[in-house]
Amino acid sequence: MLKDILSRLKKNADGKPKRNPVTVPYRYQINAEECRSCDKCKKACKAGAISGERGKAYVINEQKCIKCGDCMKWCKYRAIKRLAMYSEEPKQ
Ligand code: SF4
Ligand code: SF4
Repeated sequence: MLKDILSRLKKNADGKPKRNPVTVPYRYQINAEECRSCDKCKKACKAGAISGERGKAYVINEQKCIKCGDCMKWCKYRAIKRLAMYSEEPKQ
């Protein structure tokens, strides 16, 4: 976990994402059963953290996610949830 935190801080020092994911106590996750692979969230994600293809559920890469919440705003199917960082919800 410490390694993960240090790597995120280093990314910030390099001038990439402005928001500090370490201090944000939640994570974003796509519900595979609700995702309709419409591609909106992927286009909206400025961190390039979402991947997927037509016909399959999209996935958020937590290592790249800067937790801006834009994807959740764009998903009209409400497939993206904001979860507590260490919630019981299984990770993607
Ligand atoms: S916007 Fe919602 S439905 Fe569309 S690909 Fe993303 S998670 Fe799936
Ligand atoms: S919260 Fe922001 S950075 Fe994270 S996946 Fe959604 S749009 Fe991308």
